[in-house]
Amino acid sequence: MTIPNTPTISNTPTQSNHPTDDLRQRFFIKDSPVRGDVVRLKHSYATIVAQKDYPEALKRLIGELLSAASLLIGTLKINGTLSIQLQSSDESSLLNWAMAECDQSGIIRSLASWKADTDAQKQAWASKISADEAFAELGEAGRGVLFINIQPEGGEPYQGIVERSQDNLAQCLAHYQFQSAQIPTLINLSCDGLQAGGILVQMLPYTAEEARLIEQNASAGVDDDLWMRLTLLTRTVKPEELTTLTPNEIIYRLYNEEQVIAPSPVALSFGCTCSRDKSAKAIALIGESQALEIIEEQGGTIAMDCGFCGTIYAFNRDDVMDIFA
Ligand SMILES: [Zn+2]
Repeated sequence: MTIPNTPTISNTPTQSNHPTDDLRQRFFIKDSPVRGDVVRLKHSYATIVAQKDYPEALKRLIGELLSAASLLIGTLKINGTLSIQLQSSDESSLLNWAMAECDQSGIIRSLASWKADTDAQKQAWASKISADEAFAELGEAGRGVLFINIQPEGGEPYQGIVERSQDNLAQCLAHYQFQSAQIPTLINLSCDGLQAGGILVQMLPYTAEEARLIEQNASAGVDDDLWMRLTLLTRTVKPEELTTLTPNEIIYRLYNEEQVIAPSPVALSFGCTCSRDKSAKAIALIGESQALEIIEEQGGTIAMDCGFCGTIYAFNRDDVMDIFA
């Protein structure tokens, strides 16, 4: 057991314009292979869920998905985008799919599709409040599917399939991290419908050099129970703390007896990658005759609207002729 140290971070609230509301804060425990991140989403989350009239439980699941994507991309050494996708395999499920993504610069977005056509479906959604209830709509354990998609800039995309082993997004993702990379991982996610947050803590493998030093020096200061202690501490975080405290306040609240190093945080904000050019490419895929047919039907324009941000890209007959010219 190490002797408690004075924390090197402060939990003094920052005075300026919401800089603590939408960010990812990394932290390290000094002289240990432990690395973690805390995210909090407030204004960015509110903007994203205002795009559609999401049922409450799905709104909260979206907050957890956004927090998870913002945390997981921090574990990668790539420039690019990470997205988490939930896909229901059950026709009768109220949730069709949901996805959230975050890129290396901290731009996040999310979208989901759900069933609320009948009164019974609307009532079923109205009775659900928590993110876990929306997650349960994926179907039985082992049936609904979760994917992690990684798109490195200019590189080959990678897709990992996350086993639907638990009834909770955070636990499924932690299980996946351990299974795929053999890295002990703790993940906790929370969303109250207004704000979202999460924490990810990992014990990274020692480098060969570190392992050699530890072996030579076995009795000199190896903190054997660090991971167990951090696991217990991390589990004490309450859902309402993840959504209402700043990342620095959470880190201080949990690990104030450890020697914490916290580098500069990464700002997170809503942003969309849609463009008129991408919409034109989508029209090109439909084919010329089909596109002209749609223009006839829709009174002279094709309107492509982006579900992520609500932007509408309109193409008239001349625009469409240009695409196929
Ligand atoms: Zn958009």
